[in-house]
Amino acid sequence: MTYPDTRLFIDDQWLDAADGRSIDVHNPATGQVIGRVAHAARPDLDRAAESVRRGFEVWRDHTPARRSRIMRGAAELVRARVDEIAALMTQEQGKPLAEAKAEILAGADIIDWFAEEGFRVYGRLVPHRANPAIRQQVIKDPVGPVAAFTPWNFPINQVVRKLAAGLAAGCSMVVKAPEETPASPAALVRAFQDAGLPAGVLALVFGDPAEISEYLIAHPVIRKVTFTGSTAVGKQLAGLAGRHMKRVSMELGGHAPVIICEDADIELAVKTMSKAKFRNAGQVCISPTRFLVHEGARQDFAKALAEFATGLNVGDGLAEGTEMGPLANTRRIDAMASLHTDAVERGATVLAGGRRIGDAGNFWAPTVLDDVPAGARLFNEEPFGPVAAIRGFRDLDEAIAEANRLSYGLAGYAFTRSLSAADQLTRRVEVGMLWVNMPAMPSAEMPFGGVKDSGYGSEGGPEAMEAYLNTRSVSIAHH
Ligand code: NAD
Repeated sequence: MTYPDTRLFIDDQWLDAADGRSIDVHNPATGQVIGRVAHAARPDLDRAAESVRRGFEVWRDHTPARRSRIMRGAAELVRARVDEIAALMTQEQGKPLAEAKAEILAGADIIDWFAEEGFRVYGRLVPHRANPAIRQQVIKDPVGPVAAFTPWNFPINQVVRKLAAGLAAGCSMVVKAPEETPASPAALVRAFQDAGLPAGVLALVFGDPAEISEYLIAHPVIRKVTFTGSTAVGKQLAGLAGRHMKRVSMELGGHAPVIICEDADIELAVKTMSKAKFRNAGQVCISPTRFLVHEGARQDFAKALAEFATGLNVGDGLAEGTEMGPLANTRRIDAMASLHTDAVERGATVLAGGRRIGDAGNFWAPTVLDDVPAGARLFNEEPFGPVAAIRGFRDLDEAIAEANRLSYGLAGYAFTRSLSAADQLTRRVEVGMLWVNMPAMPSAEMPFGGVKDSGYGSEGGPEAMEAYLNTRSVSIAHH
């Protein structure tokens, strides 16, 4: 299986860093170095900023139809190359090939949806309240060149959600994609290049994340900042953006509660949540993490979830039959070990997993812990790994209070047959996205984003376009 070195993409060219620096890329299933990625130096960032400045002037004047054609062309190329891109993604990120393919195909669909949505950037005419000869216009314009920072858990889709909306709105963009998983986002960018995206509309850089974000956020050319990653880093970047008065979208961490009521279809809850929990080895911002199960159903649910976890086929994502791959980096293994030890020391019961598998590659056994105290770190810090933490509850108020206890507010799940419970949950659970009696099914047309410390702004639906648009008002008196 081949794996290419990844270069920077600036002004329609693939380039090594100006000073020749590069970073190793590892395969998380083996721990071995499989390639290198260019590490941008200051002159590269200068060039990238200048190129998107020029690219914006070209792209904003493209008609929506022309933009849409190029975007759809890129989506088609992504689909045609899915096997090849998925192999890159699995080698650098670890997820099973089938998950990599699903992510890439979903990415192509997202590009198509925004390619259409670009036609629907309308302004409006507002009648003047006193003088009919005054024409009041509301105008929507692309905000300008964007700096986008994306993480390693969904190397393609985290870029696609920003890039597709930004391009459809008429913005140019510098993407700082993850150094740990660079080849698959580079393949996405190549699809846009091959589809005829004009020079300068898109730049792709890698390097030192803090250095690049400090440079780009402060840069006068950049008008908008969008970040997906941890809440801690998001707060830093939002602060920096505030100092430079840049528009911001933040898609940050979560700690999704799953409220399983006594009247729930437990089989459905097990079936949907077990798959969701261990998808991408739990490294998903909307992963179900805090399982709050009514005492009447807790034992059955916990037992079934543990059976599922124990039966999962964990291995190299490239191997036939693998259902869960390794964690994407060694930091996650360290985090799993320390969250696990803390929970067990505080009295949690291990029903499945709870250990590293082997010593080559970052494999952590699918883990289910019951009776996890609310004070355990696992019930407070985003686990971002294949761990389900279960607690019991006796009434819905108690479950909702626990769901809302943390400062996170990204995703939530609930299972109930009661309309009144569903209504209570809809109104009172403080999350940006709630799924009732179903797994998460995020789509391009639905808003995607959090509340509270999980961030602000949306990466789906018409709201995602708004994030890349300025609203201006112009009034003209006709004499
Ligand atoms: P981290 O907090 O160091 O980094 C998270 C992401 O932010 C990475 O992609 C990293 O490259 C980037 N980053 C870090 N510092 C930055 C800076 N100063 N400027 C710009 N980008 C910066 O942690 P990590 O070990 O990579 O990931 C662990 C945690 O991050 C997880 O526990 C999870 O909470 C969060 N995370 C969230 C998502 C998500 O989808 N919301 C994705 C990946 C990671």
